[in-house]
Amino acid sequence: MEILYNHPLYRPPSEANSMIFQVTLGCSFNKCSFCNMYRTKEYSERSWEEIKKEIDFAAKTYPETQRIFLADGDALNLATDKLIQILEYTYTKFMNLKRVSCYAMPKNILQKKDDDLYKLRAAGLSMLYVGVETGNDILLKKVTKGARSTGIIESCQKAKRHGYVLSCMIILGLGGKTYTNEHIRDTARVVSEIAPDYLGALTLYLEDEIYNEFMTKFDEPFTPLDDIAVLEELEMLISNFNPVTPVIFRANHASNIYSFGGTLPNDKHKLFSLIRELKLHPEMLKPKVLRRF
Ligand code: SF4
Repeated sequence: MEILYNHPLYRPPSEANSMIFQVTLGCSFNKCSFCNMYRTKEYSERSWEEIKKEIDFAAKTYPETQRIFLADGDALNLATDKLIQILEYTYTKFMNLKRVSCYAMPKNILQKKDDDLYKLRAAGLSMLYVGVETGNDILLKKVTKGARSTGIIESCQKAKRHGYVLSCMIILGLGGKTYTNEHIRDTARVVSEIAPDYLGALTLYLEDEIYNEFMTKFDEPFTPLDDIAVLEELEMLISNFNPVTPVIFRANHASNIYSFGGTLPNDKHKLFSLIRELKLHPEMLKPKVLRRF
């Protein structure tokens, strides 16, 4: 036997070495206009028998596994009892298991009762990846995120209160030229208020399949940012980001124009110098053909 993944399969860059089990397929929302990840899949939940078979196989083949990522787009949408069954079983099968994580939408977190989040955390779900995308409500509506900034803050704070390690993602360039200031001002405010453990910045990259949908839903002319303007957004974001506790920052996704990393606010000035250098030497940026979402 082998694990036959249902493609396309996505995971955050930091889960590159994790064992992946697809406990759901696709995304239960699947409407964000910038996201082409699961458009070819209809959301479904895999049966316990299928999941168990894969866990049993992986436990025999890779018994030393330390990290597990539960795919696809929002595994937290599963019923709490089923998720607990999966979590408890993985911890009995992988003796060295240290971390189980998954993607979660703000609404998945808000829909779970406090007691559910507590039980899931106790069963070993330790880390959640939440797509914030932007803190600006006009843009959240234009990109049909299905969330408002207050709900995003509330959901992330709820996850943190229950002891989850939280990784948030935002998207540079999401508002184009028209909304660049509002996008970064509100995003910096929202992620400062959340103060996640990790903050990841992606860069908008519209794949052909969703280009027209994005433009239609945007509902006004959209002018994409050039590389220098993306660097300026990043500079503004870092400059306005004031979390109460240090946050590990990364912009090392396939969509990014360069690979950035550091701890904020401590490494602010190091990152500013790098951004200044890149503005002067754009030839150091990742070639456009290597960028994707
Ligand atoms: S961004 Fe996340 S919530 Fe939105 S469609 Fe893509 S996977 Fe689903």
